[in-house]
Amino acid sequence: KGAGKAAWRPFTPELETERSDEERLEQDLRHAIAAGQLGVAYQPIIGLAHGGVNAREALLRWTHPARGAVSPRKFIPVAEKSDLIRTLGLWVLDRACRDAAAWSDTARICVNVSVRQLGDGSLPRAVQEILGQTGLAPRRLELEITETVLSNTTEGIVDDLQLLHAMGVRISLDDFGVGFSSLGRLRAYPFDRIKLDASFVRDAVERPDCRAIVGVVAELGRRLGIETVAEGVETPAQLAVIHEEGFTEAQGYLFGRAILSAPAAAPAA
Ligand code: C2E
Ligand code: MG
Ligand code: MG
Ligand code: MG
Repeated sequence: KGAGKAAWRPFTPELETERSDEERLEQDLRHAIAAGQLGVAYQPIIGLAHGGVNAREALLRWTHPARGAVSPRKFIPVAEKSDLIRTLGLWVLDRACRDAAAWSDTARICVNVSVRQLGDGSLPRAVQEILGQTGLAPRRLELEITETVLSNTTEGIVDDLQLLHAMGVRISLDDFGVGFSSLGRLRAYPFDRIKLDASFVRDAVERPDCRAIVGVVAELGRRLGIETVAEGVETPAQLAVIHEEGFTEAQGYLFGRAILSAPAAAPAA
């Protein structure tokens, strides 16, 4: 139906199976929070000037009772088709801020936010409330938004990001380089950081064209006064390239995978 009237497709059992499998996944996901099946894993982000942990990214993990671990690359797109992503997004945000407030260092906590959570003023309000409850300093919270946000012209989205930024919360542009967005629109948003997508980092050592892109993004960050993070750094050779090109931070298996954490104990009443 979504493909329009003219683009009818003959009914096939495979299509039916595909749809109902996704529907079942969504049903199960709706119950995952209450059933205690969700967790948050943290992956370090390294400052290249000194080699220390500058930040940790919160990554949602779901252990399904029958399917086992389901990748967020599979279930996040399902959740993004409805308001379910808003519920999940708030759950992660609350958990991540509570955990970060209990860390023994002052690293930033980076939380992924879907564009569906933006535009109606509810996220700035929720963040305000969570920061108040956890006592986490606003500057320690960073919200990651994928590059597709730039092609979404809903007015309230920029407003919400400006509100959050005015509170002192950091905003970063995730998966930069794969979304075909207009560079001009970058300036309309209060980005503190750009995260270059792992696909460029992966090939930067062997392919001069990928290395050129890595260099240009580092320069773009310097010229715009925006910090740059390289995603998916797996080898010392890749690290050498992004370091030489002047990236400020790096994330990837070379430094550590995302590690599931037990929730921080609730503060004593
Ligand atoms: P992302 O935000 O770009 O997160 C980075 C992904 O790359 C993570 O996958 C991480 O485990 C993986 N990664 C990190 N370093 C390396 C590396 O060196 N090599 C390789 N091959 N992979 C690396 P993960 O945890 O499977 O998450 C996938 C995507 O799902 C995330 O991509 C993000 O877009 C989304 N996601 C995860 N958690 C959340 C969440 O709480 N909310 C929302 N809205 N999206 C989330
Ligand atoms: Mg991210
Ligand atoms: Mg990313
Ligand atoms: Mg990515």
